Amino acid sequence: MPVSFGTTIPPDASRADTGPVIDMMGRPLRDLRISVTDRCNLRCTYCMPRAVFDDNHAFLPRAELLSFEEIERLARQFVRLGVQKIRLTGGEPLLRRGIEQLVERLARLQTVDGAPVEIALTTNGVLLARKAQALKDAGLGRITVSLDGLGEATFRRMSDADVPVQTVLDGIAEAQRVGLAPVKVNMVVRRGANDHEIVPMAEHFRGSGMVLRFIEYMDAGCSNGWRMDEVVPAREMLERIAARHPLQPVDPNYAGEVAERWHYADGGGEIGVIASVTQAFCHECTRARLSTDGRLYNCLFASDGLDLREPLRAGAADAELSERVAAGWQARGDRYSQLRHAMAGDGLMVKKIEMSFIGG
Ligand code: SAM
Repeated sequence: MPVSFGTTIPPDASRADTGPVIDMMGRPLRDLRISVTDRCNLRCTYCMPRAVFDDNHAFLPRAELLSFEEIERLARQFVRLGVQKIRLTGGEPLLRRGIEQLVERLARLQTVDGAPVEIALTTNGVLLARKAQALKDAGLGRITVSLDGLGEATFRRMSDADVPVQTVLDGIAEAQRVGLAPVKVNMVVRRGANDHEIVPMAEHFRGSGMVLRFIEYMDAGCSNGWRMDEVVPAREMLERIAARHPLQPVDPNYAGEVAERWHYADGGGEIGVIASVTQAFCHECTRARLSTDGRLYNCLFASDGLDLREPLRAGAADAELSERVAAGWQARGDRYSQLRHAMAGDGLMVKKIEMSFIGG
């Protein structure tokens, strides 16, 4: 039987004052990922497989989604509790109509120290060429584009949609042109599907000023049929690249950075690896997730979320909302990726929320 793994709130959770909150493992709340839609215009086989997310799939009705006003109100509470960076994601965030208006609202927020909150966005890039300028003008600070291969056949195999890879490459170029630089490009690597593109992708983005990050294929959600033998360990990815282009390790930009950074020894720029399967980094995870329907999830692999929309729509005051968020964070003990191997087969039995819903 699936076991539940996620947020639980002790009845006596303490009141929240504004200022940084920490969880049961001493981790502060620093980052907030907001899923603005559960819909996507791709059907990446490892994320939203077409067999599950088909024409019969019930996506959230509009009334279930948080409005921009509601997102801003909740985001403000998270910022009062220590959040310094907000990332908009999904589903595909550029499918949410008027997304730049949300960026504009969020870009006005200030951290508890009075600094601007950094606003970032993760996209598949399909609509980016036509949206990049508006996003930049609205105050978007950084953008990450997902791209799993350069070859047309590989890209289609991964994304399972009728979109040419050039559409995404044009979006990346436009993002660079409007000054959303440096663009980060994320490549999820799945053995046997696109691992032959590790070196071609590295060579394509080498010297471009963009940062390519290789991501280990994760057992996110329950619909992708994940198997450990399809994971290419980050060490192996680095070895394959370094065999052609020697690499040197670089210090993290900040504590808790998910990507391990590497520079090409010849000055060709930077790459990163995100080894969430083989080198779990739960101990320094400072990320909360707000789902499309307004639930707080404390872990990408959570099965339960804390409803924030209900009190919000019932007229709760800001203080009540931030207390609820703080209590949810203070009760957090999640460390799924570190436990994955200890749970052995059982890890795969955990009922996890799909990544398109919780926000990647
Ligand atoms: N639609 C946007 C995009 O494609 O970037 C944002 C949402 S998507 C869920 C965010 C990121 O999660 C993408 O880079 C995607 O490749 C990654 N992702 C989804 N499922 C994954 C999995 N099982 N393992 C590793 N990364 C995954």
